[in-house]
Amino acid sequence: MEIIRTIEEMKKYISTIKLKNEQIGFVPTMGYFHKGHLSLMKEAKNQCDVVITSIFVNPLQFGPNEDFETYPRDENRDIQLAKETGVQAVFIPSVDELYPRDPIISLQLIERTDVLCGRTRPGHFNGVLTVLTKLFHIIEPDRVYFGLKDAQQAAVVEALISDMNFPIQLVGVETEREEDGLAKSSRNVYLSGDERKEAVWLYKALERGRKLLVDGEKNPAIIVKEVKNALTKNTNGTIDYVEMYNYPDLKPVERIDQQVILAIAVHFTKARLIDNMIFDESGAIIRGPFS
Ligand code: AMP
Repeated sequence: MEIIRTIEEMKKYISTIKLKNEQIGFVPTMGYFHKGHLSLMKEAKNQCDVVITSIFVNPLQFGPNEDFETYPRDENRDIQLAKETGVQAVFIPSVDELYPRDPIISLQLIERTDVLCGRTRPGHFNGVLTVLTKLFHIIEPDRVYFGLKDAQQAAVVEALISDMNFPIQLVGVETEREEDGLAKSSRNVYLSGDERKEAVWLYKALERGRKLLVDGEKNPAIIVKEVKNALTKNTNGTIDYVEMYNYPDLKPVERIDQQVILAIAVHFTKARLIDNMIFDESGAIIRGPFS
């Protein structure tokens, strides 16, 4: 497996792949791999000739009071895991390599932004747009793989690819969960023992909301209220949001008569966890909203 740290070296590597007419699958990450990351790489491996992953904790997408400095990192372990998963190249640029000067251009998301994580993380998705635009130009992938755990991010990537005419196919990959249902996340390491037990309620509350829909409840406000109740009763975390929108447009719906997302964010002492489910109007889970 190649470990590449500079743009120049990556461009050279890409040109050899393009010469062979091989399809590139790209998995952008911030590292500290868990099974969620690996499932993206495996999906890419199934569909493409060459899998490239990047590890880059992108300062542009962290707010001033967020965890950029303390975000968990373990490069050696990540390299080993990527190798074992069959990845051909890992791109690990430094901050200076990707941002040699303060950016002169800023990309701005104008839709799909003032809801869910976008509301409480101003500028976050603009930072995501910038880094992905750079990475897409450097790596020139045929397909990119994003986890549906970060469903708003996937909706933003869909818009980036479509609005900017990137010749790339987006593949949304189902959320990988712990045995009890907790979505895998690099930030789960911040949870105390008790919080870890409570955190499963993000998943259980989503299931409760989905069940209401399956049983015929079409009013999103009632479902959101029930999910909030379940979280308040069963965790000591602070609810950041429980919201329901159509997906991927992320517009409010008065009645559930189309593909929707039910999404949650909860603050625990040291970690803010998110989770969601995307389903159709009957409550059947949609696993491939972009395929
Ligand atoms: P991150 O390193 O947190 O930026 O995540 C990199 C990619 O992995 C993103 O596309 C995430 O949506 C995806 N991802 C994170 N957690 C999971 C999970 N539990 N299941 C599936 N994909 C995930």
